[in-house]
Amino acid sequence: MTGVSDQFERRLRDLRISVTDRCNFRCTYCMPKEVFGPDHVFLPRDQLLTFEEITSLVRTFVSRGVNKVRITGGEPLLRKRIEELVAAIAAVGGVDDLTLTTNASLLARKAAGLAEAGLDRVTVSLDAMDDPTFQRMNDVGFPVATVLEAIEVAVEVGLGPVKVNCVVQRDVNEHSVLDMAEYFRGTGHIVRFIEFMDVGNTNGWRLDDVVPASEIIDTINSAYPVEPVPANYPGEVARRFRYRDGEGEVGVIASVTKPFCGACTRARVSAEGMLYTCLFASSGTSLRDALRSGVDVGEVIDEIWAKRDDRYSEIRSSQTSRIGTPVEMSYIGG
Ligand code: SAM
Ligand code: SF4
Ligand code: SF4
Repeated sequence: MTGVSDQFERRLRDLRISVTDRCNFRCTYCMPKEVFGPDHVFLPRDQLLTFEEITSLVRTFVSRGVNKVRITGGEPLLRKRIEELVAAIAAVGGVDDLTLTTNASLLARKAAGLAEAGLDRVTVSLDAMDDPTFQRMNDVGFPVATVLEAIEVAVEVGLGPVKVNCVVQRDVNEHSVLDMAEYFRGTGHIVRFIEFMDVGNTNGWRLDDVVPASEIIDTINSAYPVEPVPANYPGEVARRFRYRDGEGEVGVIASVTKPFCGACTRARVSAEGMLYTCLFASSGTSLRDALRSGVDVGEVIDEIWAKRDDRYSEIRSSQTSRIGTPVEMSYIGG
């Protein structure tokens, strides 16, 4: 077996790679306008990893045990010629699952090219089925219908069925739980309800704003009875439930109330090539510098992974403050 285990015997299996820190949405829980306003300085172009560098990193990560790669951002479809990157990654042997997470604003026009380039699936983020709620959350007035149309196009070109990520916030979009369950049951798409997380430093997170996954499941169960389903594979972050009437399944990602650090096999690389071993990290290591100075990147990754002892979500409750400033979700990519 390739690669090393970390301090808690966790292997490196998944890689999330952010291709841009920019986004055309200003989701209030991720890139609030007050912080990511017109004066916000994004990464300059020459700081971004090139496609060749990303592909080289993917190859090295695969040699260290990674077999799942997710492209994310910011909004990954804003990165120019993203299809070329997808094709290059798809050509690296050993990636069994190549996916991309998107707000779907550009998906309808990009889906065919992405499928052709070798993308396996997409995950689409959608927080409500009604425009007033969705537009308040994306904060740029983007309509629900365009996202739904993009999902249809994705299916037509073979990128479906899709996973639909919905972040649930108390008193903001709790009603979306039933709306989304109702719309997507029977379609083959799987909605995954995500507990609002305290990622970064800017979204004003409070524990009171979190709707626990157990409550989300109770809400669905009361309208459409569900039963738990075993995980697809060890370490799957979403807990799965299927509708008892055979109309498909839903998932919940209980990162706050039921943390899953024990099975976390995920590394994250930012658009400028910083490697983070936890979503809540405040410091990382520049793989871009390692690449550009000719250092053996595989050795760097092994060394960092061997020392890894992150389990932020499991110790969150006992923690009163964090050391350093945590990185933002739009930077690290979720
Ligand atoms: N822009 C793309 C999108 O929204 O799908 C990809 C990047 S986005 C950072 C990845 C995922 O993180 C999205 O599904 C988003 O809803 C989720 N996310 C962002 N901030 C979050 C938070 N504070 N808590 C939980 N999920 C969050
Ligand atoms: Fe952009 Fe995605 Fe963050 Fe929303 S969640 S602001 S779409 S990066
Ligand atoms: Fe993994 Fe860190 Fe999330 Fe725990 S808190 S599951 S270690 S990313």
